[in-house]
Amino acid sequence: MNPKILLSTPHMGGNELKFIQKAFTDNWVAPLGANVNGFESDLEEYLGNGSHVAVMSAGTAALHLALVMLNIGAGDEVFCQSMTFAASANPIAYVGARPVFIDSEKETWNMCPEALREALESRAKSGRLPKAVIVVHLYGMPAKMDELTALCEEYNVPLLEDAAEALGSTYKGVKCGTFGKMAILSFNGNKIITTSGGGALVTKDQALKKKCIFLSTQARDAAAHYEHSQIGYNYRLSNISAGIGRGQMEVLDERVAARRRNQAFYSELFKDVDGIEVFTEPNDDFFSNHWLTSILVDPAKAGFTREDMRLKLLNRGIESRPLWKPMHMQPVFQGSDFFGSGVSEELFRDGLCMPSGSNLGPEEHERIAEGVQCLVPNAAWSPTA
Ligand SMILES: *Cc1c(COP(=O)(O)O)cnc(C)c1O
Repeated sequence: MNPKILLSTPHMGGNELKFIQKAFTDNWVAPLGANVNGFESDLEEYLGNGSHVAVMSAGTAALHLALVMLNIGAGDEVFCQSMTFAASANPIAYVGARPVFIDSEKETWNMCPEALREALESRAKSGRLPKAVIVVHLYGMPAKMDELTALCEEYNVPLLEDAAEALGSTYKGVKCGTFGKMAILSFNGNKIITTSGGGALVTKDQALKKKCIFLSTQARDAAAHYEHSQIGYNYRLSNISAGIGRGQMEVLDERVAARRRNQAFYSELFKDVDGIEVFTEPNDDFFSNHWLTSILVDPAKAGFTREDMRLKLLNRGIESRPLWKPMHMQPVFQGSDFFGSGVSEELFRDGLCMPSGSNLGPEEHERIAEGVQCLVPNAAWSPTA
């Protein structure tokens, strides 16, 4: 029996254990140490553009602290892209604020500037602008940052970037994660690089980095005893996990290249298939890490649904998954306001994420192609040398 082909699995580079070994040798088995500082420097160097990075126990924790640092609380509203993973929106609830969900546009599947404008205009009229706008770069595809940034500047609302899926992606040559007032990254097990669990806050404001580290280490004031004047959190990344991160940074560019090769494979596979569209950058301003390659299935043209495809692949031990279900359709956020025209609902109905791990090679591609050909005999595929 062939092993299952999963959507996205961890892919170690080789040197991770050396960094962990060093932490053991030095007995820095704690949420601080050389790996924590080193991982932060590696990320700062990689992102460039004057970035300061604070590594956290999760991307969700980093986003929570971003909202805390903006003093967002009960009675406030935060605009959030609807088409995303729940972790983009949950921290809004953690601070007692209310999410307002914004639809996607069809080119990048990310926040629609038209819908954002409509929402901002509507809230400006009633004199209660949101305290932040959370924009996501879904599946690694950069959002339309020029338009979204201009709108947030016009209304003087801080833009937060959820770049959890987009490490290595660029918009007009600038790395995702360096556009917003603050951004978050994730190093969860399924992401482009992983520390098993982990995340980061990225900002150009060094004071915010310091504040984030302060809050994430229990908000301890300077004193010999334990003195606290603010509520603290225990969100700092461990020196062991950071060691994995240091090893992963050595292979990040290779991981991006491998994910992009997967996307090229699927583009070739489906190029002559009616009714299947492979998610691709709209133009050269956008460079996606293609964390997950996704397709849209138009049942009227294809003669089958995305669910038919998913089940056919599953039968052959190949995992695929529907796109993120929009937050305004989720039971937990029932009753939240939503601005848009239904694009995210259509994407959810027709979209499927294909196996996209950086560790998929020609053998896995062959098995996936054979699985697809069960349903779509004219899918183009021939073994590459
Ligand atoms: C993975 C992910 C997160 C959360 O990151 P964790 O490190 O798992 O907490 C947030 N937003 C998006 C879009 C994600 O994909």
